[in-house]
Amino acid sequence: MSVISARLDRISPSQTIAMTQKARELRLAGRDILSLSAGEPDFATPAHICEAAVKAIRDGDTHYTDVAGTKQLREAAAARLNADYGLDYTPDEIIISTGGKQVIYNVFVATLNAGDEVIIPSPAWVSYPDIVALADGTPVIIPTSEHEGFKLTPHALRAALTPRTKWLVLNSPCNPTGAAYTGAELRALAEVLADFPHVWVLTDDIYAKLVYDDFEACTIVQVAPELRSRTVTMNGLSKAYAMTGWRIGYAAAPTGLIKALTKLQGQSTSNACSIAQAAGVAALTGSHDFLPPMLAEYKARRDLVLAELAKIPDMRCATPQGAFYVFPAIENFLGKKTPQGRVLSSDADFVAGLLEEKGVAAVQGRAFLHPGYFRISYAADRAVLQQACARIIAFCAELG
Ligand code: GLU
Repeated sequence: MSVISARLDRISPSQTIAMTQKARELRLAGRDILSLSAGEPDFATPAHICEAAVKAIRDGDTHYTDVAGTKQLREAAAARLNADYGLDYTPDEIIISTGGKQVIYNVFVATLNAGDEVIIPSPAWVSYPDIVALADGTPVIIPTSEHEGFKLTPHALRAALTPRTKWLVLNSPCNPTGAAYTGAELRALAEVLADFPHVWVLTDDIYAKLVYDDFEACTIVQVAPELRSRTVTMNGLSKAYAMTGWRIGYAAAPTGLIKALTKLQGQSTSNACSIAQAAGVAALTGSHDFLPPMLAEYKARRDLVLAELAKIPDMRCATPQGAFYVFPAIENFLGKKTPQGRVLSSDADFVAGLLEEKGVAAVQGRAFLHPGYFRISYAADRAVLQQACARIIAFCAELG
């Protein structure tokens, strides 16, 4: 009898993490690898945030905190949601967790019963369906289309809703497409949900500060306040503040649900790291002057990658509004052969060929429940991106 539970057998390892790990190992083994697989800012955490952490250590801020997070950080998160979106939450309606991923994990484990359905528009971040499955729920994947900007339409949402639907997951800007919903698009989805009062919304807004070309990021409760009583608005510090390793995520939700999430967290990890929480207060309440230059750099990188990929005749790539990913279509290359004799039968073969034959690590579209595409993270410096794009161009040109 296996020591591993049947529950764990329902899920696969995170493919974004697996690919990033593989690239790291190949590089350690001496291979020349350009890694565009990690969904992680390459910027340093701003100095004033690091200083706050050092001060917290020196001040002895090194003990347990409230399970739901320090009052200061919950107040800071509430103030941030107010400043960014005009939302009105009290600290009792906020929980701090060990990264946005733990917020999502807690939400599904705390709310799903066997057979409850969770609507996940694809392309979608790798971990949503696996966390739902781990929590005994049923992921219902609704593919969106490239020509509709990779966004869920009100029509597709209505068709997917059933009496068993418990959650709709929104992620804007989206990992892996960078697609972001306008206020009007979110409002239209909210109007469908008005007819389904048993359905809750989990909105993952972790990339909301990373938007370009004057796009205004918004979140569903802002345009549909009537959904406040059945929405979890999730955000975190990893992406906008370049703090992936600090592991701070937060969520705003009605107090009853926050209490349930806190109960679950109290029986697993307890509070998020006290030092990272102190740094989080500095991040959310301190100067955001680091942001405009960071955004300008991300935009320049996005434009560089789009311009380079446009040189590949058979590759299509939509222009994303936000995040730091592009998601090109590679269906025109399927069935072709690499110079080393590898037949590209799928996006996974394409990505494997690119890694093995050109030393560029990216992630296959099927990891995001959307085969026929691949994800490039442009959270890398421009020289690396330029070189990686040259290799991708060469890879495609040499296919026969
Ligand atoms: N969210 C990032 C990514 O998509 C980090 C890795 C992960 O947790 O999936 O690459």
